[in-house]
Amino acid sequence: MILDGKMVADLRNEELRKKIIAENLKLTTAIILVGSNPASLVYVKNKIKASKKVGINTKLFNLDETISDAELTKVITNLNNDNEIDGILLQLPLPKHLDDDKFINLINPLKDIDGFTTINQGRLFQKQPTIVSATPQGIINLLNHYKIDVTGLDAVVIGRSQIVGMPIAKLLTDLNATVTICHTKTKDLSKYTKKADLIVAAVGVPKMITANMVKEGVIIIDVGINRLNDKLVGDVDFDEVSKKAKYITPVPKGVGPMTINALLENIYKIKRGV
Ligand code: NAP
Repeated sequence: MILDGKMVADLRNEELRKKIIAENLKLTTAIILVGSNPASLVYVKNKIKASKKVGINTKLFNLDETISDAELTKVITNLNNDNEIDGILLQLPLPKHLDDDKFINLINPLKDIDGFTTINQGRLFQKQPTIVSATPQGIINLLNHYKIDVTGLDAVVIGRSQIVGMPIAKLLTDLNATVTICHTKTKDLSKYTKKADLIVAAVGVPKMITANMVKEGVIIIDVGINRLNDKLVGDVDFDEVSKKAKYITPVPKGVGPMTINALLENIYKIKRGV
């Protein structure tokens, strides 16, 4: 069965749109884009379009590639202090002369709709209410939609990034899955994936998870977005692995739309103080 992220995200976006109207909310996200990285431009354009659809305003700050540390600091500080701005989204990666982590942590955690600040990630790891990064939250929302109970499942998360791998491993652990985290230094990846009931692939290597690496009935969440011969593909060889999987997310239209939806829901949560 295909886990249709696009369909579920559309449903949730429509719910959100209705809530924003019913509660007469004025929500504004500031999006900071430094330079003109083509992939970042596409992501930003999609986020603006999706925000508009649900009735969230966006203010784009498209800053010059050569902006100084001090100038970017000033932009973020001003947005932190601007009562008209509910959420701040800093499009990553920043140009090499700017430190991603430093600028993420300049964002007021109460406006951190990406949930990337140390405070919000720390709160997640201490099981306190927080803004959870959009991709892991989107995955959990998708599993919930299809009533997939992960209790007691052997889950393998491939990838240990701060924005996907680590937080999804934490969320699955909190939901009582038994989680193994794999990465580039894992000795024999297949040894883990072959036993897994649930695999989250968040790697960035096209089609690296092949049918011989998984067992019958596995649940596959493919986070990867890779360009291969001008096509978007995931980290999982969808055509072959889908023959063995009980549930699988496609790429595109799987985790991607769920991520954008979770991002939009985060700004609503921030405004509502939840
Ligand atoms: P990242 O920061 O580059 O992390 C990749 C992780 O994969 C690292 O932990 C790395 O291990 C591990 N890895 C790389 N090659 C591996 C291999 N051959 N075997 C085992 N592990 C390997 O990437 P990310 O930001 O987490 O993103 C991962 C993928 O998801 C990318 O394709 C990205 O475009 C996509 N993504 C999609 C969405 C969405 O909305 N669908 C959102 C975010 C990201 P080490 O730690 O040892 O280096």
